[in-house]
Amino acid sequence: MVTAVTADGSPWEPQFIRAVDSSECIGCGRCYKVCGRDVFELIENEDDDGDDDYSDDVRMVMTVSHAGDCIGCGACERVCPRNCHQH
Ligand code: SF4
Ligand code: SF4
Repeated sequence: MVTAVTADGSPWEPQFIRAVDSSECIGCGRCYKVCGRDVFELIENEDDDGDDDYSDDVRMVMTVSHAGDCIGCGACERVCPRNCHQH
């Protein structure tokens, strides 16, 4: 755990990103847009639903690509409509 201080000296604990729950993500891109540290990447996620019609089996989901760049601001979690982010 890291404890930092804000500009006025108040204690503040960064909430560093660990993962995005791809089973909940709808690929809306809100977390990508709000993150100022370029931590996320939108990728294709293949859903094998068992039918062999090859339709709608690929969807876009967010993933954490540069976790080491996260400063723990928590903005991604606040804008996500599906509560996908794990910190
Ligand atoms: S906590 Fe802040 S810096 Fe870290 S991934 Fe979320 S928006 Fe980006
Ligand atoms: S804000 Fe949430 S639902 Fe939207 S892309 Fe990011 S993780 Fe997925």
